[in-house]
Amino acid sequence: MIPYGRQHLDDDDIEAVVSALKSDWLTQGPAVPKFEQAMASYCNANHAVATNSATSALHLACLALNVGLGDCVWTSPNSFVASANCALYCGADVDFVDIDFSTGNMCMRALAEKLEAAERDNTLPKVLIPVHFAGQSCDMAELAKLATRYQFRIIEDASHAVGARYNDKNVGSCEFSDICIFSFHPVKIITTMEGGMALTNNEELCNQMALQRSHGVSADAALLTEPSHGPWYYQQHSLGFNYRMNDVEAALGLSQLTKLPQFVEKRNQHAKRYHQLFSEMHELLAESQVEIAPLVVDENSYSSYHLYVVRFIGIDDNQHRQVITFLREQGIVGHVHYIPIYLQPYYQALGFKKGYCPNAETYYTQAVTLPLFPDLTPSQISLVADKVKEARLLVA
Ligand SMILES: *Cc1c(COP(=O)(O)O)cnc(C)c1O
Repeated sequence: MIPYGRQHLDDDDIEAVVSALKSDWLTQGPAVPKFEQAMASYCNANHAVATNSATSALHLACLALNVGLGDCVWTSPNSFVASANCALYCGADVDFVDIDFSTGNMCMRALAEKLEAAERDNTLPKVLIPVHFAGQSCDMAELAKLATRYQFRIIEDASHAVGARYNDKNVGSCEFSDICIFSFHPVKIITTMEGGMALTNNEELCNQMALQRSHGVSADAALLTEPSHGPWYYQQHSLGFNYRMNDVEAALGLSQLTKLPQFVEKRNQHAKRYHQLFSEMHELLAESQVEIAPLVVDENSYSSYHLYVVRFIGIDDNQHRQVITFLREQGIVGHVHYIPIYLQPYYQALGFKKGYCPNAETYYTQAVTLPLFPDLTPSQISLVADKVKEARLLVA
């Protein structure tokens, strides 16, 4: 089976892990701050807080922005559930902004309209979590303008977009956001096995997240509320968590980071090849009713291509299932990103109903994620494209 995504590990990655295992520190050693500094410097952000997952980084980010009971957080329905769950962890409400078909990202027009209505009803969000779907940044400059006008904060869920660029700046620079979150899960761009990171230019937000990452406990003399009892002394200042990344993971991350530009370049090359094959196919099968449309990437964006998604425009959900099943029978793991979050039973129980974000729902019945990862070979790409062509004939 050709998977839809997989990690690339070299011998030097494995050696980095082995030497971390042989070092004096398995947990809180020198590799974690080194990895944080390396990522911050790569992205041109001032601060980075490494965590044991993007999910926990999203939670810490919401807490640092004081998301709590009575607040509302808006995100995209076309994402993994973690993008929305983080708001619920804090006791806040969550709401969803419909997407743009061509990119899979939050639709800026839908957002502007929803904000206008929310201003009238006094239900403006405290925080917006745009998701850089498949590795393409949302229109952050536009989002930042809306954030100023309607006074909300921005957490970028850039789990897909490590190594991506927007307006020639690396995603993670936080030029247009308060905090930016990365995931280092093995299917993502670089991996620490499990792992995540929050980047920010705001020192106070960084300190808050760092404190909450480790039980709310600190030995920092500046925070002490009474004279230190001695060199062993620490204090707990808030109800934090154990969301720390360990030194073995960070050592792997440091090693992977050296390959990040290559990984993203390879992903872009593979995507370009898919584009070519699909546009040739388009000319061949132009009279068919089913159109195969890859996601559009804006000119001002360099996608990290976490996912390669095509839409089968004109098919219904049965045909969608047929396409994915056919691909899997042919040894290709076609996947679907994503089931609209609010259609999950947990969210439906909160009151969300089918039909809430029509674009996200239509998109869900058409989207097929095809294999894309650095080690994909040209012949695998051709095979996948051929099978997609056959799948299309199956449902056309
Ligand atoms: C993978 C992913 C997450 C969660 O990442 P973890 O590191 O597994 O917690 C959150 N948001 C999006 C969009 C993701 O793709």
